[in-house]
Amino acid sequence: MNCTSDLRREALALLKKFYGYQAFRPGQFEIIEAVAAGNDVVVLMPTGGGKSLCYQLPAMMKEGCAVVVSPLIALMEDQTSALVANGIPAAAIHSNRDETANREIIEAAYRGRIKLLYVSPERLLADLDTWVSHLPVSLFAIDEAHCISQWGHDFRPVYTQLSVLKQRFPSVPVMALTATADRLTRDDIITQLGMENPLRWVGSFSRPNLSLRVVQGASKKQRVATVAQMIRRYPNDSGIVYALSRKGAEDMHATLCAQGFRSVVYHAGLSADERARAQRSFTNGDVQVVCATIAFGMGIDKSNIRWVVHNNLPGNIESYYQEIGRAGRDGLPAETVLFYSYQDIIMRRHFIEESGRPLVATEKLDLMQKYAESTICRRRILLSYFGETAECDCGNCDVCLDPPSRFDGTVLAQKAGSAIIRTGQEVGIMTLTDILRGSVRAEIRQKGFDRIKTFGAGHDLPAPAWTAYIGQMIQLGLFEIAFDEANHLKVTPYGMRAIRGEIKVELSTFTPYTHTPRKQVPKEPPTPVDPVQQLFEQLKAVRKAVAAKAQVPAYVVFSDASLLDMAQKRPSSMEEFMKVSGVGERKGVRYGKRFISAIRKFEGMSASMPQGTSVKETLILHNAGVGLGEIAEIKGISVETVRSHIAQLIDEDMVTTFGNYISRTEYEDIARTLASDPEGKTLREKYSFGMISLAKAIMAYHQRAK
Ligand code: ADP
Ligand code: ZN
Repeated sequence: MNCTSDLRREALALLKKFYGYQAFRPGQFEIIEAVAAGNDVVVLMPTGGGKSLCYQLPAMMKEGCAVVVSPLIALMEDQTSALVANGIPAAAIHSNRDETANREIIEAAYRGRIKLLYVSPERLLADLDTWVSHLPVSLFAIDEAHCISQWGHDFRPVYTQLSVLKQRFPSVPVMALTATADRLTRDDIITQLGMENPLRWVGSFSRPNLSLRVVQGASKKQRVATVAQMIRRYPNDSGIVYALSRKGAEDMHATLCAQGFRSVVYHAGLSADERARAQRSFTNGDVQVVCATIAFGMGIDKSNIRWVVHNNLPGNIESYYQEIGRAGRDGLPAETVLFYSYQDIIMRRHFIEESGRPLVATEKLDLMQKYAESTICRRRILLSYFGETAECDCGNCDVCLDPPSRFDGTVLAQKAGSAIIRTGQEVGIMTLTDILRGSVRAEIRQKGFDRIKTFGAGHDLPAPAWTAYIGQMIQLGLFEIAFDEANHLKVTPYGMRAIRGEIKVELSTFTPYTHTPRKQVPKEPPTPVDPVQQLFEQLKAVRKAVAAKAQVPAYVVFSDASLLDMAQKRPSSMEEFMKVSGVGERKGVRYGKRFISAIRKFEGMSASMPQGTSVKETLILHNAGVGLGEIAEIKGISVETVRSHIAQLIDEDMVTTFGNYISRTEYEDIARTLASDPEGKTLREKYSFGMISLAKAIMAYHQRAK
């Protein structure tokens, strides 16, 4: 038999048992295989792509303990509670816990009782000479590995010291994982970590379930209306509004609260406590929206975020893609909207100049702007940015759904161009728009702009249309923004040719903004009469109650994708329940009863499961390591019945461990008595019927084994 198929079988069995999934996603097994062979691996997959499994499964398959380097405590806690909920022994070492507790965790790891240990890079480096050096480490997994590179957008100097891992533990495989890395960053990760000829897995960045929409020049009122509409569209789910500044986030938050929505605000200006609280109420689903700066998100492992709105243009495509990628991690449809104005570009430029790393950052901003102004399928641009080629248009972005029509805009370009020239090339986009529209505001009169020949020459078009067209003219290279001269517009030589009528200018028709896309981008949520949707909502309520009782975030119980699968499959027995995607053994045992009875009620059946039909269910629970009393309780049957199920299963050679159901002394006593009294009449006084049949089954089993 060949090794790969053995390994695959083992890995698949663990995937089913612990996660309740039937198949690997692309790349997951290849990565597991590489680690099993002792190789280093770089994993580049989009957010929601399924990176965690790539190190969690090898951790369970290998001897020793995997050390996971993770930058945020909140993230560690969420990940470990999700693992524990699946029955995987994991824990985190961090400074928010007292040292005795940390010590206990380390002791447990020494004894092989913990398979995954999460730790911050600072802590790992500080403790290298103490506990880390004695721990049998199976694997180092470095999450958010792009933090190691100065080329990335989230450089953290401490990450660069992680190169010491390969020096100190040359034979331990290192896996670096990130959702955002261009080629430069990727190479940097490999060199800086000192990886040896690693497997580089670059997963597909396509997230077809995310709809993409970009809206230029919407007013504040329109932006708020869009957010409000999202909240109403997904009243029981949550979304994120990203703003450029703290003030922007605060503003949006205040406006939404005033309209009665449940919102929290999150930015770096808040205290650690306030931030932790905001994050908790978001992950627990207590609020409908978080208004945040980019400080928010890295720790977010919530699979049912249904929408993300950017109130301002992000600084680069990596950040943008990572931020929108937080929506729809469960694979179900999710919406994204990007609002964008020239003011954003100017602000961003300003930031970049202050940051002192202008070259790379400016280039990245330019690409971001090109994306926002694109008149071809937006997903194609995103994918090509990450080095993938899309063979066809995506059909789920605003350009695809509502392709811009084109018209001859030469006259418009001439009007705009000559107005720029006549002002001495000393106006920005806003003032130019006002001049063309014939606005008589004070500044325009003072400067005498109301007396130039083209004043009011474009009064027939609304201001947002002019702003959009001027933007297109800039993209076409007719004008330039002089960022070093108060952002004034300059006519390029190419633009002069347009003014002189030597070239034709083709523009895309501006569509006035409405907050419902004209051709509906996402499906409206199904009406409540749809039974699947109805059951789905009920299951969410069950999940919420279960999560509250267990004091874990709802998605740790089940993801939305699992609940939806459940609502579609409607399992009414334990056996069927185990087939739902995302139901591993531990969760099946722990939550099965609650969810099944909700489903049975929904179907108009009696809430309790049919009794006695299910020797198989007993087997499932037995295999999951559930004890006698617990099996009886979960199934609502007596321990005697469980014993007789087990006896039957032993007869079929399905069960070969009996210690949970009968003690050795009891067994030997019964066996001895039966040897002299095959009818076993005297036994009835001492032992129950279930116990006797169990002992008989075990005796027969031993007989067969001989
Ligand atoms: P990432 O870390 O790449 O952002 P996660 O590891 O959190 O992504 O995975 C995203 C979601 O996909 C999780 O809900 C996870 O359980 C699910 N998932 C991962 N692998 C599989 C698989 N093979 N089959 C089904 N769902 C999966
Ligand atoms: Zn498209």
